[in-house]
Amino acid sequence: KQKNNPNQAVNEMSIVESVPKTLNVADIRSHFPIFSYPENSELVYLDSAATTQRPVQVLDAVRKFNEEYNSNIHRAAYKMAEKATAGYECARLQIAQFIGAKHAHEIIFTRGATEAANFVAYGWANKFLKPGDEILVTELEHHSNLVPWQMAAKRAGAKLKFLPFNANGELEYEKLDDLLTTCTRLVAVTHASNVLGTRIDVKRIIDAAHEIGALVLVDGAQHVPHSPVNVQELDADFYIFSGHKMLGPMGIGILYGKEKLLDDMDPVLFGGSMIDDVQYQESTWAELPWKFEAGTQNIPAVIGLGAAIDFLQEIGLENIEKHNDSITNYVLNELAELDFVTVYGPRQNRNAVISFSMQGIHAHDVATFFDNKSIAIRSGHHCAKIVMKKLNVASTARASFYLYNSIEEADRFIEVLKQARGYFAKWI
Ligand code: PMP
Repeated sequence: KQKNNPNQAVNEMSIVESVPKTLNVADIRSHFPIFSYPENSELVYLDSAATTQRPVQVLDAVRKFNEEYNSNIHRAAYKMAEKATAGYECARLQIAQFIGAKHAHEIIFTRGATEAANFVAYGWANKFLKPGDEILVTELEHHSNLVPWQMAAKRAGAKLKFLPFNANGELEYEKLDDLLTTCTRLVAVTHASNVLGTRIDVKRIIDAAHEIGALVLVDGAQHVPHSPVNVQELDADFYIFSGHKMLGPMGIGILYGKEKLLDDMDPVLFGGSMIDDVQYQESTWAELPWKFEAGTQNIPAVIGLGAAIDFLQEIGLENIEKHNDSITNYVLNELAELDFVTVYGPRQNRNAVISFSMQGIHAHDVATFFDNKSIAIRSGHHCAKIVMKKLNVASTARASFYLYNSIEEADRFIEVLKQARGYFAKWI
């Protein structure tokens, strides 16, 4: 462990050994300062699909960088900067191992999943997409994995097509054969829906796309925090995700791409750190991964993400997935008893993201009622307007659960939902 844990080796600052091997929610919560902050003593945080809270190990890693060895990477000859460079590059290696990438240089640091998708839309699609080509997305996509493709298609004169989902919130995989054509160059698909919780069989989509020679970009923003992933087993061409949804800092995300594809892509941002040589009129580019990392990076966030991965691995992604599944089943069973609630998405094989509506009550009013009871839930279109259109609603309320949520909190959620029904009854 020590050997595979570069940040620990470099900074002696990573995870404490006491994190339990199986999910002990009380113990896990004790690592998250936000839950013991006096103003949050009543807080039930059910918005982890938007962003997760951070354990002290992550906060410490960032703080230590800032307090003890803040310096810029890859440039300086002095020891402190060498330590920063080592922390940064070791985190890259750690992330590569975490998602099963073949090479550390296939991991590119971005600001988030959104920026990662845009890197491919500019660096790959701008270069290779031609008029008449097709991009296939699904109706489940977050805007971050849709709008970049709308724009890329427009720029190239290509066509954007959609794989639909059914009334159950499952993709209609049987339509793949018709939608994938010899013109399809790229399929962009989420690994799990941030609205309906649906887990997607991306392997099936990747295999079908590869058969006709198309590439596949998987948006793992809602998958990586909850379940193990291996990009080589999936044979994903590109895989994107965000640090802040997996206990890491904000402002850091990952673009994974197969070496050959990244090599063939154009850089997207130009400037310092990404060049090999610069002449008066022309420049050449550095090797992977630096070709894509222009300018000063968010170094403390990268190091914090390394600490977040330590934390997740210490607990075990399988254990986290089991915990999330059992809480999801529990809540779905409870919700099935409530005739005034509509729950969206599949009953099985889904993430701990539960979107719902209360008859006759706007989602924002539902969320405000919950907030008054110290429960943080989400309301709105969840950056998935196509999903809303398909469901024929303007917005939904959404509760999402993670490793620090307990069954007692799930009970409190159900109890407040029943109270909301009583409270709003006079208006409906
Ligand atoms: N994809 C999905 C499925 C998401 O849920 C989100 C965040 N809500 C994103 C992409 C975008 O992530 P970020 O805002 O961190 O770039």
